[in-house]
Amino acid sequence: MAHPKRRQSKTRTRKRRTHDKAVAPTLAVCPNCGAFHIYHTVCPTCGYYRGKVAIVKEAAV
Ligand SMILES: [Zn+2]
Repeated sequence: MAHPKRRQSKTRTRKRRTHDKAVAPTLAVCPNCGAFHIYHTVCPTCGYYRGKVAIVKEAAV
């Protein structure tokens, strides 16, 4: 397998990693219940997606 001859310096590794960071997901307001949910996902509060019931929430155990 291809293998680097020399170890990459800490500086070089850290320079590359300056561009790595977590981004906050885009949130949307559910038109059914008004709660925030992640875009393109079923609302975790009411189970609606695109105006229809996608998953039926069961009562809390
Ligand atoms: Zn909802």
